[in-house]
Amino acid sequence: MGNDQGDAHSHGAQRPLDTLRHTTSHVMAHAALRLFPGTKLDIGPAIADGFYYDFEMPRAISDDDLASIEAEMRRIVREDIPLVRRELPREEAIRRMEQAGQTYKAARLRELSDGTVSIYEQGDFFDLCRGPHLPSTGAAGVFKLLSIAGAYWRGDEHNPMLTRIYGTAFPTQEELDEHLRLLEEAKRRDHRKLGKDLDLFSLHDEGPGFPLFHPKGMVIWNELMAFWSQLHAQHGYVQLRTPILLRKACWEQSGHWEHYRDKMYATEIDGEAYAVKPMNCVGAMLYYRSRLHSYREFPLRVAEVGIVHRHEKSGELHGLLRVRQLTQDDAHIFMTPEQIRDEVLGVMNLVDTVYSTFGLPYHLELSTRPAKSIGSDEAWEAATNGLRAALDAKGLPYKVNEGDGAFYGPKIDFHVRDALNRTWQCATIQLDFAMPEKFDLTYIGPDNQRHRPVMIHRVVYGAIERFIAVLIEHFAGAFPVWLAPEQVRVAPITEAQASYAAEVHKGLVAAGIRASVDARSERIGHKIREAALEKVPYVAVVGPREAGSHTVAVRKRGEGDTGSAPLEGFIEHVRREIALKSR
Ligand SMILES: [Zn+2]
Ligand SMILES: [Zn+2]
Repeated sequence: MGNDQGDAHSHGAQRPLDTLRHTTSHVMAHAALRLFPGTKLDIGPAIADGFYYDFEMPRAISDDDLASIEAEMRRIVREDIPLVRRELPREEAIRRMEQAGQTYKAARLRELSDGTVSIYEQGDFFDLCRGPHLPSTGAAGVFKLLSIAGAYWRGDEHNPMLTRIYGTAFPTQEELDEHLRLLEEAKRRDHRKLGKDLDLFSLHDEGPGFPLFHPKGMVIWNELMAFWSQLHAQHGYVQLRTPILLRKACWEQSGHWEHYRDKMYATEIDGEAYAVKPMNCVGAMLYYRSRLHSYREFPLRVAEVGIVHRHEKSGELHGLLRVRQLTQDDAHIFMTPEQIRDEVLGVMNLVDTVYSTFGLPYHLELSTRPAKSIGSDEAWEAATNGLRAALDAKGLPYKVNEGDGAFYGPKIDFHVRDALNRTWQCATIQLDFAMPEKFDLTYIGPDNQRHRPVMIHRVVYGAIERFIAVLIEHFAGAFPVWLAPEQVRVAPITEAQASYAAEVHKGLVAAGIRASVDARSERIGHKIREAALEKVPYVAVVGPREAGSHTVAVRKRGEGDTGSAPLEGFIEHVRREIALKSR
């Protein structure tokens, strides 16, 4: 199942916003050339959130330089220079680029087969480009340069390292301000930063892409899995645990070796080739084939929370969002073609229960048969109709990506929207005509004949690591009580309340609540501040009055003092909040 971050770069300029941003990238290149003569230009596309331009610059640049480039850009905008499109023979364009010392542009031109190419001129600046552009630099203006990064020419580490400057642009100042606010907020919520501050997990040079979960992170993990197990039992799933290593021959049979090999880790045992699983499917196939099956046991829902390994380039690793070892909450469901609709609907309801628990809205996308595909017309029709029927029964709007399915079957993807309005692809329901064929899976139908079962792969969380990253950023580390590593901190005001604090703690723990006592001889204000920094949902303050009346003074995260409560009443309140998974 996919592990993409949805960070698609859109090259070219289709949206009006892209035209604005791409024009702004020309303005930036013009400014860079004015300030740093000798700068060589590569490309400057509009991307999802803004634009960038890759330069070879005469010296390394800093954030201070960004400010002066911005100032120069404003000057170019004020000069209101028209952008003029010229078409010229490719050979002439190459000569012109070479005369200007623009060797990267000349190299890219040489690779084109077009006889005629277009360049855009703005004053003394010109750039190889297909366009379209705004009519003049004065039409740009609301922009911000954001960061500097290194980028190998053409993404190849054997090529020179260029300087990439990222920026963004919007039609109005309000839109830019809102975007910058969200960027700041995203930085504040970055799961790598919060994961460290809250002691949830760590990343090590000793194993890039192999995150290490700390005890507090494991509490969240285990809560997610307990919730998962309970729901899956209710939805009629059984569970498997299949090996991480299997003979290479298995991966050849499944097709992974052919299609996925550059992401797979391999090894040798007793002189024989083995590979580490990049997906859990093969184990499920081996299980299915371990005995005969009848239509009477269908749908057969076999789940596996499986650890898979996928080689990602080191430059693409990103915290828990892009890793080399991930844990999927996978399941393979075997059924008859008639069962597709109800079964898919069942998975959709399960996903809905999970996402609504976290307050994550989502939208659905259906991907249909691509040009190159395996499986019969009838099979594709039955499968796609089954998915559509389930979507219609669910009554949620969905987007159709015509021809965007895998070659082995159509699928439904769930894209969740977090508190910062970002979308993440998490759950998928993928039909597969190939795997049952390759492993010759059969069942005995009511006619006593052998038939090929229909199979789906599905995940709900997706990868647990990635889902935890999404949750950390969605909640900004302030997890709902049921997920919080520590749910209540007991804070005695002085040492005189030590024994009452211990009693409160004991009561909480006996009720299944994760609690600790801050028994240090610190001032109470300090203890409260520290608990707030650690985002503990409740602080139970106990002073002489509370000890005398068997109460606690309750402080709730984000709300402050909420008054005093009888100890038993407080425990019951927290217990209920946990049981209901309140947010
Ligand atoms: Zn352009
Ligand atoms: Zn699978």
